[in-house]
Amino acid sequence: EAKKTGKNRVETYREGNDSVSGRRLDMEKNMRDATVEGYREFEVYYQPIIDIQGGKDVCAGAEALIRWNSAKLGFISPAEFIPLAEYLGLINPIGNYVLTEACTRCKHWNDTGYPDYKVNVNLSVVQLLQPDIVETVEKALADTGLSPKNLTLEVTESLAINDMDRMKEILNRIKALGVSLALDDFGTGYSSLNHIREIPIDVIKVDQSFVKDLAGDAYSQSFIKMVAELAQTIGVSVCVEGIETPEQFKVLQGMKVKYIQGYYFDRPMERHAFEAKYVK
Ligand code: C2E
Ligand code: MG
Ligand code: MG
Ligand code: MG
Repeated sequence: EAKKTGKNRVETYREGNDSVSGRRLDMEKNMRDATVEGYREFEVYYQPIIDIQGGKDVCAGAEALIRWNSAKLGFISPAEFIPLAEYLGLINPIGNYVLTEACTRCKHWNDTGYPDYKVNVNLSVVQLLQPDIVETVEKALADTGLSPKNLTLEVTESLAINDMDRMKEILNRIKALGVSLALDDFGTGYSSLNHIREIPIDVIKVDQSFVKDLAGDAYSQSFIKMVAELAQTIGVSVCVEGIETPEQFKVLQGMKVKYIQGYYFDRPMERHAFEAKYVK
């Protein structure tokens, strides 16, 4: 569902059966209330990103991942509510909340002994197309005092489908702030290796689907290896997501992969848990 285009998404919600529509309406109402009521039901979790280059496996920072624990509906996965938030236009205020929260935390880590930790924040295409997105990012940095070099914005390849020239211009303006860009879920959807040349990215995040059978799947191994070689040639780092087992981890150690993210190290954690372990 999360991967569908805006058009398909609307059809999915409209054509759903009654219970699906009921769920959608419940989510819509509760999501609006949750934003009006100061985002108290939302929480930002942090999943460590581990630098495996050099063999020391050190934490390089974290990806910020939103959680919604609705008083009325219970826990709802971002894979379910982010597409609806995009459709309703609520992704902009919710996304700004995540951005400010993540920048505030990272600034704190930087000031308490971890000056090089970075924070990654996901931005959906809808957010990128806000006319004031560059100013929004600039303001979050100014308000929190976070150094732009410690902020990475994650964008997906789907952004390249539509107005590529407009996207390139926006991404270049964001880059000009000193912020880094990561291409998320790489290898899925309308992938084109050209995107990594056309847009000014710093990190390629290989999609989890290539990791599932990694230990026994020659295609996935070759794919990651090829991406890592190509990335090195153009001066881009590679992060592989979704590492769950020591076998998967071992396969990657022989490749030019700089970052690893996955349950093998840690799940996304509530901020106090992240800080207890990684910001001592
Ligand atoms: P993503 O940005 O690709 O984030 C990675 C997802 O993989 C996260 O799911 C994370 O919890 C999960 N993951 C990490 N390691 C493993 C692993 O070893 N195994 C498995 N099976 N999964 C792992 P999550 O937190 O449910 O988020 C899902 C998606 O929702 C994200 O995918 C992202 O596209 C979106 N999302 C989450 N937070 C935000 C946000 O603040 N803003 C926006 N625009 N989108 C967000
Ligand atoms: Mg991401
Ligand atoms: Mg991803
Ligand atoms: Mg994803």
